[in-house]
Amino acid sequence: MTKKARFICDNCGIEVGASEKRCPKCGRYFSSVRCPKCGFAGEEASFTNGCPSCGYSAAPPRGAAKPPPQKEELPLWVYALVISGMILALVLLLFNN
Ligand SMILES: [Zn+2]
Ligand SMILES: [Zn+2]
Repeated sequence: MTKKARFICDNCGIEVGASEKRCPKCGRYFSSVRCPKCGFAGEEASFTNGCPSCGYSAAPPRGAAKPPPQKEELPLWVYALVISGMILALVLLLFNN
């Protein structure tokens, strides 16, 4: 017989399956994280340095994997629009004189 961990919904208090991602009664989503290696489940905060049970690091801690900010480049048509607008303004200015 395998020993099964018990999971209690902290919102309504009913026992839910260990694999449940949300409470079947109240619909609350559980924030617990499950280690894919050893199956240990716990608060997400306890997994910041990897699995507290086996040390398996499923995902890098939040904030560390932040991609570098990408330099935004304007599309070519923006320059074309600006230049044609300047030419138009120049032409109007010349014709007004
Ligand atoms: Zn519940
Ligand atoms: Zn683990």
